[in-house]
Amino acid sequence: MENLAEFRNEPYADFSVPANRQAIEGALRDVRAQFGREYQLRIGGEWIATGDKLHSLNPSNTREVVGIHHKATKELANRAVECAYAFFPEWSRTPAEERVRMLFDAARILRRRKMEFDAWLVYEAGKTWPEAEADVSEAIDFCDYYAREMARLAGPQPVVQLPGEQDEMVYIPLGVGVVIPPWNFPLAILVGMTVASLVTGNTVILKPSSETPTIAAKFAEVLLEAGFPERSFTVLTGSGAAVGDTLVQHPKTRFVSFTGSRDVGLRINELAAKAQPGQVWIKRVIAEMGGKDAIVVDADSDLDKAAEAVLVSAFGYQGQKCSACSRAIVDAKVYDPFLEKLTTKAKTIQVGPSDDPRNYMGPVISASARKSILEYIETGKKEGRVVAGGEPRDGDGYFVAPTIIADVDSKARIFQEEIFGPVLAVTKARDFAHALELANDSEYGLTGAVFSNDPEHLRQAKEQFHVGNLYFNRKCTGAMVGAHPFGGFNMSGTDSKAGGPDYLLLFLQAKSIARKVG
Ligand code: NAD
Repeated sequence: MENLAEFRNEPYADFSVPANRQAIEGALRDVRAQFGREYQLRIGGEWIATGDKLHSLNPSNTREVVGIHHKATKELANRAVECAYAFFPEWSRTPAEERVRMLFDAARILRRRKMEFDAWLVYEAGKTWPEAEADVSEAIDFCDYYAREMARLAGPQPVVQLPGEQDEMVYIPLGVGVVIPPWNFPLAILVGMTVASLVTGNTVILKPSSETPTIAAKFAEVLLEAGFPERSFTVLTGSGAAVGDTLVQHPKTRFVSFTGSRDVGLRINELAAKAQPGQVWIKRVIAEMGGKDAIVVDADSDLDKAAEAVLVSAFGYQGQKCSACSRAIVDAKVYDPFLEKLTTKAKTIQVGPSDDPRNYMGPVISASARKSILEYIETGKKEGRVVAGGEPRDGDGYFVAPTIIADVDSKARIFQEEIFGPVLAVTKARDFAHALELANDSEYGLTGAVFSNDPEHLRQAKEQFHVGNLYFNRKCTGAMVGAHPFGGFNMSGTDSKAGGPDYLLLFLQAKSIARKVG
């Protein structure tokens, strides 16, 4: 394969620049003009209308229907697996260079349509402009990064040469993959898991989240335009509960790549572990799950910077990131001044429709998400002291105020359970060692951050803070492809390290070939 330029992260558009502002405003208008369009299923080359339709709403204004999608049935799920299985031999033998070239093309097409995708994310996922821009940029990064990774893995692998033998090891694809992404990075995560599967030579059934199916349908257009054959992937829209089990249990499914909640991930892992009649492999499950991420604030840290980082990590995209800070653990010596700074800043946050750039926070994703978050806030009122927010916000969408609950004990539910909304628990630690102990007092282990100027404390955190992604003196969200391979420990998942050099190996198996010579 030709020499490839070094990977660089896709730069974010700066929306204070008038040209970028006009571009996204134009894209928002264009996308709005496509609201209410109907999307059929496509299995193999065939378009299918089931008549059972899913309405995807704009969470900023629930009277608006972003897209209408025909839902798959169990029978169609089975058909999709059979179709993917039938095409696997052909796709798996397509030279890796061709698949890599298609993936670079997908990156180029996404870059060309970036503002349009930003706009779909604003309207279907409730992301603000900068959050949407980060999501789409990450999707481009995954394409560019995994294309390079596949080019590396397609080449000769280093093995010892025994005397009298020619020894080699090659990576080959697995088979049919079921890709199940969440709605919260409806482009980046969906793209990352899908293109990792495809570029390694697997065929794919992508079951998008029912909250964000239009974004998935739009990405399918990108794959087709980039040259991925129509039989190499199917987008199977439908409720996870209805078609999920069928896809996961099918004997011809070879692997499942899942990102979502702990409970669904555990269920998939359990179902996939049971061999079905006719199944001739152990299914591989790559599962990235929830988080209860903490930022530790040490006594000697810069409190303004720490408060700003906690705020951005807790309330960016309404706290709906697996990496979001939902626990601030603060040394008792600076607890009061830190809380004061944090609360003052939080009260200035503006909440409202995500297409209006004056709002720092948009809506949460759905009525059921809002209900669950508000229930947690009620629990939190009994488990601590509400110092900011604590109530829903009026409007046509699912708005919730940024909420801070102070003096929370580590046994409290709001300290232990993932809320997945704009709710932050603040807990007092006796000293730094206690703060680390509290940070680790969780079944999850995804991201974490420490604010400290004490090198010995940072050394202790490096050794003891048990999370897959650890950050010092910065926010705990915003992992960058290539720089911060992403994935968590314990109930946060299988630590697959998306966007890192180990990731594509999860979608491949190695074949060793030894030839006697002489
Ligand atoms: P979810 O578990 O409800 O759904 C995830 C996906 O699984 C969706 O596509 C859904 O339709 C599907 N699904 C639901 N039931 C299923 C079943 N029985 N069989 C098969 N598929 C099924 O999660 P969500 O609400 O979409 O996303 C939020 C969760 O994702 C949070 O817990 C968050 O922490 C986690 N998350 C983790 C990471 C990570 O990298 N660790 C990244 C983003 C989100």
